[in-house]
Amino acid sequence: MITENHCIQLDQNDALATLRQQFALPPDTIYLDGNSLGAQPRAALDHAQHIIHQEWGTDLIKSWNTAGWFNRPLSIGNELAPLIGAQADEVAVTDSTSVNLFKAAAAALHLQRNTPAHAQRRIIVTERSNFPTDIYILEGLSHFLNDGYELRLVDQPADLHSAIDQDVALVVLTHVNYRTGYMFDMVELTAHCQAQGALVVWDLCHSAGAVPVDLHAANADFAIGCTYKYLNAGPGAPAFIWVPKKHQPHFTQPLTGWWAHQSPFEMQTNFKGAPDIRAALCGTQPIISLSLVSSGLAVFKQTTMAQIRTKSLALTDLFIQLVEERCADHPLQLETPREHAHRGSHVSFAHPHGYAIVQALIEHGVIGDYREPHIMRFGFTPLYTSFHEVWQAVDILKDILDHQKYDLNLEKNAVT
Ligand SMILES: *Cc1c(COP(=O)(O)O)cnc(C)c1O
Repeated sequence: MITENHCIQLDQNDALATLRQQFALPPDTIYLDGNSLGAQPRAALDHAQHIIHQEWGTDLIKSWNTAGWFNRPLSIGNELAPLIGAQADEVAVTDSTSVNLFKAAAAALHLQRNTPAHAQRRIIVTERSNFPTDIYILEGLSHFLNDGYELRLVDQPADLHSAIDQDVALVVLTHVNYRTGYMFDMVELTAHCQAQGALVVWDLCHSAGAVPVDLHAANADFAIGCTYKYLNAGPGAPAFIWVPKKHQPHFTQPLTGWWAHQSPFEMQTNFKGAPDIRAALCGTQPIISLSLVSSGLAVFKQTTMAQIRTKSLALTDLFIQLVEERCADHPLQLETPREHAHRGSHVSFAHPHGYAIVQALIEHGVIGDYREPHIMRFGFTPLYTSFHEVWQAVDILKDILDHQKYDLNLEKNAVT
């Protein structure tokens, strides 16, 4: 049996423990929801003040040049690149994940239509259990193209191989599943897609800053992802899109706003797309929230994804083991793979009263969240989650379960 002292010891030997001080976390709160909204890096406050006071308040419109506002989607993209195995000038931080998926998917279909051997392909593969916006965007794009595109929704990871055949134009996969935390083998699946002649877009929402990602090693085609989850960029901060150099010369997407033009300030009548990553942009960006993405990324520069991964697996292993040891009398079902190679950085347990239990946990200072159906989700963010907190969270969970300290008559909130 694992003891509380053992967990305290783990913190004493934790090389990342000091990074926690760089985050503004409220007292008496165990925050296990960094997979949904990352905590606030303390530096973000001064940074925001600088942007509002100096860049906006004092320097006004000059800041487009003097502060580098105009180039900021790309300069911050370059800061993010090493975390996902991208090279310089391949990442733009811009728009939302949903919008970036629309752009990447449309660009990929366009490439396929211009490849004679693939031009007739009309199947788009994704998972039925993918995050709904990903499916909705692909549905919307298919309807809009009105040219016979069909979604092929796959039910089990094991069925993906046979579903990706030579009729498939595009595959859109979320690397780490938002509900179960299941992680795909990116290298192996990308190779399979390409062997079948399909292009692949990887959604890295639950991967960027959570698990090591090497898009170039996988030879992937496109990627997109959030910054407000594990990258701690702030609520609704702009997302990212990766277009590798190999696809940049032929990359076109339908949201051809002026920021994607080769020379926007020539104010030409006709659109001429930029020959580089700028082609993934559309229009003017929310400079304040965009800028704060940097404050989140700054913390990652003090460690490595390998160190983060080691601690992440230790945290999730500990949580699974403690729940199974200490809450064994309750109908909890582990939804997350035990196998490290297939686990992201959150752990999900299903329980028939999952929603009510999560609300009770929140009332007792343990913040996780709930996803239909029945799933209680707990995110572990190595930059600021401690091993002792894992112990405490399970202690509180056990108390709530043992004494049924939850209310089955709660109305669900708009955000669960
Ligand atoms: C969080 C998440 C999104 C969010 O998309 P938004 O456009 O930011 O609302 C999309 N896809 C996946 C897989 C996610 O986990």
